[in-house]
Amino acid sequence: MRLVSPLLKHAVYPALHHSGCLDRITPTGGCAVVNYHGVVPADHPGNEPFLDGNLVQQEAFRLQLQFLKSRYHVVHPDDFHTWIEHGKQLPPRAVLVTCDDGLLNTLTDMLPVLQSEGVSCLFLVTAASCSNEPGMLWYEELYHLMRAKPLGTDLQLPQEKATHASSSTSFQSQWWSAVKKASRLDASTRADWMRQVRDRCGPTQTFQSERRWRLLKVAELKQLADAGMSIGAHTLTHPILSLCSDEEVRREIRESKINIERALGRPAWAFAYPFGNPSTLGDRELRLAREAGFACAFLNVEHWGSEPPNPFALPRTHVTSDTTLPEFAAHLSGFHARLLRAVGA
Ligand SMILES: [Zn+2]
Repeated sequence: MRLVSPLLKHAVYPALHHSGCLDRITPTGGCAVVNYHGVVPADHPGNEPFLDGNLVQQEAFRLQLQFLKSRYHVVHPDDFHTWIEHGKQLPPRAVLVTCDDGLLNTLTDMLPVLQSEGVSCLFLVTAASCSNEPGMLWYEELYHLMRAKPLGTDLQLPQEKATHASSSTSFQSQWWSAVKKASRLDASTRADWMRQVRDRCGPTQTFQSERRWRLLKVAELKQLADAGMSIGAHTLTHPILSLCSDEEVRREIRESKINIERALGRPAWAFAYPFGNPSTLGDRELRLAREAGFACAFLNVEHWGSEPPNPFALPRTHVTSDTTLPEFAAHLSGFHARLLRAVGA
C-alpha cells in the first residue's frame, strides 16, 4: 500500500469511494481478508515511524471496522474455517478480519474496539506467546539494538564474511540485511547471537511502551481466546522462512501449531507466513503448511502467482498506518489488484 501512486491515493480512490462505485464491485475468491499487526497504544511515543507503519491508530481501526460492517458481511473465523475446509457457503461480500504477531496491544488496545463493534478476529501468533517470557519480535529488537550501536565485526553472523557496509547504505537496508543473515541460523543459534548483540549494544529503551513492543504472554493469549477471538499460528520464532533449512522450516511451521494447541487446548487450524510476500516464501513453505495439518495459510499480499486459488496461499489486504478509507475500500473490493493487472504492474 505504501507504493500506491499519489494520484490513486489522493484523487482516483476518493472519487470512486464517495461515488459508491467500489461498493458495487464483488471481490473475487469468495471472501476478502484484511490483515492488521496491532493498534498503536496511547502510551507509545511514536518514535519509530519505520516499524510503527505496520500498526494503525485506534480510531482508524474503529472506522475501518464500521466501514466493513456497513458494506460487507464480516464473518466469524469459525465460519471462514467451515467454508475453507468443507465448502459451506459464506454470505455475499464476505470479509474476514485477521491480525498477525500477537503484540500485547492486541489485547489492551485492539480487543476493546473489536468487542464494542461486535467483530471476531483471527489472531495469528508465534509460539513465543505460549511462554511467560515472550520478549519482543527478535527482528524488531535487533532494529532497536542496531540503532543504539551498529553491529561490530565481532558480531558478524557466523556464516557471513565480515563486510563493511558502504556509508551510502541506509540504516534500514543494513538492518534488513542482518535480518536475512540471522534468518539463516537455526532458532537456538539465532537466540545465542541475539544475546551477544544485546550484551554488546544494550541496555536499550525498547520497552518505553511495553504494549507497543512486547508479545503476549500465555495467560494474555488465553484472555484473547476466552474473549471469543480465534487463534492461529505464525511460526515458532518468525524467521524469513525461504532462508531457513528444510528441517528448520518444517519445525517452525509444525511445532508452532503443536505449541499453540497445547497452550490453548483447541485446534489451531490457520497459519500465516512471517513477512508473507513472494520474496520470503515459496512452494516449499506452502507444501509444509499443508503437511503440518493446517486447513489454510495466509499471505500478507493481495495476489500470488499461482492459479487456481490455493488455500495455502490466501491473499490478504495489509492495512498500514497511512491507509486511507478510500484506499481500504479500493483494495478490499479487489479494484486495486485488477487495476495493477490491467496495466501490467
Ligand atoms: Zn508477522
